[in-house]
Order: sequence, then structure tokens, then C-alpha cells
Amino acid sequence: MKDKILNKKVSGWLNINTVDKDKIYDFCGGYIDFLNNGKTEREVSDVIVKLLDSNGFKRINDIDNLKPNDKVYMVNRNKSIYAAVIGSDNITSGINIVGAHIDSPRLDLKPNPLYEDAKLALFKTHYYGGIKKYQWTTIPLAIHGVVVKPNGEKINIVIGEDDNDPVFTITDILPHLAEEQYQKKIGQAIGGEDLNVLVGSIPSKDDSIKENIMTLINEKYKIDEIDFYSSELEVVPAFKARNLGFDKSMVAAYGQDDRVCAYATLMALLDAKESSKTKVAIFADKEEIGSVGNTGMCSQMFDLFVNELLNKTKENNAGALNKTYCNSIMLSADVGAGVDPNYQSASEKNNASYIGYGVELNKYTGSRGKSGASDANAEFVAKVRNIFEKNDVKYQVSELGKVDLGGGGTIAYILANKGMDVIDCGVPVISMHSPYEVTSKFDIYAAYKGYKAFFEEE
Ligand code: MN
Ligand code: MN
Repeated sequence: MKDKILNKKVSGWLNINTVDKDKIYDFCGGYIDFLNNGKTEREVSDVIVKLLDSNGFKRINDIDNLKPNDKVYMVNRNKSIYAAVIGSDNITSGINIVGAHIDSPRLDLKPNPLYEDAKLALFKTHYYGGIKKYQWTTIPLAIHGVVVKPNGEKINIVIGEDDNDPVFTITDILPHLAEEQYQKKIGQAIGGEDLNVLVGSIPSKDDSIKENIMTLINEKYKIDEIDFYSSELEVVPAFKARNLGFDKSMVAAYGQDDRVCAYATLMALLDAKESSKTKVAIFADKEEIGSVGNTGMCSQMFDLFVNELLNKTKENNAGALNKTYCNSIMLSADVGAGVDPNYQSASEKNNASYIGYGVELNKYTGSRGKSGASDANAEFVAKVRNIFEKNDVKYQVSELGKVDLGGGGTIAYILANKGMDVIDCGVPVISMHSPYEVTSKFDIYAAYKGYKAFFEEE
């Protein structure tokens, strides 16, 4: 009786059977491959498109009429994707949406990156998203991205991932001479203009290291220095995603925020059974800098996609889009903060998530007095609880951290503003936004199961 009255929180690993444990480890093997095959939003978008194509999804522009169980997607500028499986009900009766983002914090090369200083060649960077700058020094770095020539020719670059590739790094002062740095606050110890990537040291015949390095780049990629103007080159950790711990129960990798939820969302969409509601998966870009721009969730592109679904099911008329939104439900699939044993004081333990304790629901986000929060109705939280409980999905309901310490947001409010019921639901992460984030395999699989059940909800 006491067990029922009190909400007793226990690890998801407790009493787990071998079959379920194998399923979880198998699933996360696929996830680790997914992480290693995509370290930028463009690469992740390409990986998702490949998986959609091989699972019978068609580009929505190639299809005139949609009928139940048709599978379609739209790629937005190779950086964000919307995918749908048409249900047997009208779309205006509401759709079931799970939305993740596929951009991650990183360092972007500046438009004029290459320079020479103190007998070395370096790249200037401009960081993207919320990073702790000191974490990006003295680690192996890779460069991923595209250079586009004025004639439209696009050169894809990935260097630093193959064992035969060179890597890059950002240097840091030796402790012997760090007295000035030690006096600074940790947030100011490394400045944005200090995040310069070491890329070479041999001079040309004219004693120019810059010229020599640019010549090497030109020979390999057929680009000139001016072509950096029209490039998007991202500096990311060169580490591979790995199993973590003696029990291999965790995943350590760069970019798990939010590719962990993106992978779980994608697999849930691919595996979900036919049902009455239309299922839509969102893979958004630019979440880490406020969901702005034409590939961010605030753009009109998602409306265009849903309008196309309405057009091609012959349901579109004045107000159909608004009606669809107001009848829809959504899980905003984004990561939360797991309690860090080294920094427990940042969490209020009654309302914190522990890794390995299940997928995390955040009724609301925001900061201070819930400023900027998307706050799910109690009725909707109850509905999601019911979906999870009847499908044996282990979940925990929590907040990001202590009230006065900070806060955060996701794409939830953007869709909530359109009129749908939305709640944040994702995998708790330790060391979030660092070059090496930690998740629990149990939670990753719980997210997948939860998203799948949500898609299938009638
Ligand atoms: Mn996120
Ligand atoms: Mn984030």
C-alpha cells in the first residue's frame, strides 16, 4: 500500500531482464554509429534522409496525393527535416508530433579564418551556442563543413575523423606560467578571441606559414582563401562516441544534445505501427541559438510542410492550418540535465532527473519566475503520463536545476504558440554542451519507447 501512495524512484536498471537489456544495448549500438556518422546539422540531415529513403519515405514535392500510411518528408536547406506518416483520420483532427533538433554547440570558422602569428598558422573561430570556452582547449578537433564557390560548386570537407587524418587543437597556457589566467574568473579565463585553432607550422620558401598552409588547402580542396567567405566550416571534437563505464551502461560523445532525442525520434517514427493520427517528426536546426532563421523552428517552413500535407490530402481550406495546430499534441524532444555527482548542489534533488531513471518530462522550462517558459497543462501532462504508463515507459518529471541558478528553453514554446499541447520530453544528460556529454542507455531506449507510444496514440 505504501508503495502505491509514495512515488518511489528507482533506477531503470533495477530488476531489468536480459532480453530488455540486450534490446537497449543493441539500440544504442545503432545510436553510437549515428553519432559517429553525423557531427554537424548537415551531416545528420544527410544521415536521416538516407534512413528515410531506405524506409519508404518520399520527398513531399514528388507526390501529388496523400493517403493513409503514405510516408513523406521535406528537407529544408540540408539542415532541418520534417517527416510524416499519414494517418487514417483527417489531419485537421490533429497530428502527433515529436520534435528534436540536430544542431549542437561548436566553433564555426570566421569568414577570414586563416592567419599567421608567432611562427604558427591558425584559424579564427566564432563559437555557436552555449559553450564553456575552457572545455574546448587542448582536445583533438576535427573540421567539418562545406565551401561553396560562386559558380555553385560545393566542396564537402571532413578532416580529423579518419585515423590517417591530422587533427587540430586549441592551445592553452602551461600551468608554470598561468598565474594571470588563474586570477581570472573561470568564465573569463579563455576569451572568444582565444579560441584559435592551430593548423600548421611549416613556412613557404618566402617564409610565410599562412601561404604554405593555404597552398596545401588549395591542393587538397581546390579552394582559394577568398572561398572561405562562402563556407560553413564547423570545428567539433575529434573524439568518437563510445560506451562508457565498466558496465557499458552509458554513452559518452559530442553532440548528444540533441542528437540523442533526434535518433530516438527517428527510430520511433520508422517503427511506429499504423494508426489513426498523422505522425510528424521534426529535426530542427538553430535551436542552440534561439531557433531563429530559415532553418530554425521559428521559420515559416514548418507551416509550409503542414500546409502541403493538408493540400495533398485535399483538406486545405481557410483556417485548416490553425485548426490542425489547435488539435495537435507534441513532445518537444530535447535533453534535460541529469544530476552530476560532482555538482549536486546545482540540482534540487526532489525535482531533478537522474540518469538511468527513465525519460525526463519537464512540465515547464524557462528561467527565474518561469520567464520564457512553455508550461504544459496538467491535463496534458496526465495524458502523456497515461500514454507512458500503459506502454510501460519509465519516466521522471523534473526541472532543469535550482530555481535561481539559471534556466533554459527548447523549441516547445514555438509550437505551443501555434496552439498545440506541448511538453518537453527527453534524455537527461551530464556535462551538457561540453565536448563529451554523458547519457544513460536506459534513458535513450525509454525515450524511443515513449516517442513511439506517443506517435501511435489514437
Ligand atoms: Mn537541446
Ligand atoms: Mn542545448
